[in-house]
Amino acid sequence: MTVELICVGTELLLGNIVNTNAAYISEKCAMLGLSMFYQSVVGDNERRLEELLKTAKGRSDVIILCGGLGPTQDDLTKETAAKVMGRPLVEDKRARKEIEEFMAKRSRNVTENNWKQALVPKDSKVLYNPNGTAPGIIIKEGEQRVILLPGPPNELIPMFEEQVYPYLHAIQPETICSKMVKLCGVGESSAETKILDLIEGQTNPTVAPYAKTGEVHLRLTAKAASEAEAFQLIVPVEEELKKRFGNLIYTDDPTVTLEMAVYELLKAHNLTVTTAESCTGGLLAGRLINVPGISTYLKEGYVTYSNEAKEKLLGVPAEILRQHGAVSPQTAEAMAEGGAKAAGADICVAVTGIAGPDGGTEDKPVGLVYMSCYCRGKLHTEKNQYSGSRSKIREYSVASALTLLRRAILEH
Ligand code: ATP
Ligand code: MG
Repeated sequence: MTVELICVGTELLLGNIVNTNAAYISEKCAMLGLSMFYQSVVGDNERRLEELLKTAKGRSDVIILCGGLGPTQDDLTKETAAKVMGRPLVEDKRARKEIEEFMAKRSRNVTENNWKQALVPKDSKVLYNPNGTAPGIIIKEGEQRVILLPGPPNELIPMFEEQVYPYLHAIQPETICSKMVKLCGVGESSAETKILDLIEGQTNPTVAPYAKTGEVHLRLTAKAASEAEAFQLIVPVEEELKKRFGNLIYTDDPTVTLEMAVYELLKAHNLTVTTAESCTGGLLAGRLINVPGISTYLKEGYVTYSNEAKEKLLGVPAEILRQHGAVSPQTAEAMAEGGAKAAGADICVAVTGIAGPDGGTEDKPVGLVYMSCYCRGKLHTEKNQYSGSRSKIREYSVASALTLLRRAILEH
């Protein structure tokens, strides 16, 4: 079954508002196993909306429209849809009553144009709206459906969850489910090479890699009659991925981030951590502090940008800085050891590098970043060479530092 989405609103075309409804509806339709081949945005213009709707009618089984159901002159989605579907508008008694009650509850007067919202195309299914005055509408013609939804997300989302999703689920026999297997410490091409046979050979479930900063995510998607069956299809493929990637997989939960996975490890091993940052300037501590509850394990972090700060706060010997320079494995290790000591923490992750765009030399080019993780007496040190802008280099450094921290705890 194919679905097409049309978002109505000049505000969307001008970039005044972000089309979050499109992202929301697309995701839900994918979950329902509906194939979405077209999406468009059109302004509050009757002629252009009519044209678009006629095109959609010629190619899609379900057409979802959002926005333009309000009481004002420029809200013309319903009128246009009724015209294209050849249905007159008739008043819906319950919609009228609900508008009356909605306004009374808020001590607002019903204005004449509010009654316009009680009009629905003849023989359509009305989706009553407890969060606003415009009801949603489903017009069915043969096997084709046109679904009209209000624009405000606080009205659209509950209406979709409670009324549209179950409706579409009932007419669509298949469900699509997916899992996100997240990897760190491996590049996209090397990850892809390892699973080329899975990517090429499979149709249900499918495996699709996505490159993220310092991470690779593999989406496993399966189609089946029920959610349980779809997840059942995913199980053997996920097992295979675990065999191939082992510890590089940090989660299969789409809501879990790398810093959350690190937090869980700190908690499980009851280890405290601190950070000693030069080129990342606090970004690493910031990522860790994204996780609620981290305060038990992270008490303080250091931003030591200058050599003086590295000496003063972390006790890095001046001799090391003089002999090897601030961007060196020796300095990274001295920062890590010194940071753990200064904070009285079990672990310290230190990062020192050249984020650019200036300051690179032949020996030490822009993007060269050393990091070291001190974990209860043991040092894990790494050299990385990144490319890209200053901010990209810093983001990559943070992802690698979290990966290094994770590895140090796992090996501890
Ligand atoms: P109203 O009764 O509020 O007029 P409506 O159904 O006519 O609702 P619009 O007038 O198109 O909807 O949009 C109303 C508001 O809803 C917009 O100002 C915007 O805040 C939000 N909105 C509309 N469309 C979208 C969208 N596609 N994504 C996110 N928000 C949207
Ligand atoms: Mg409106």
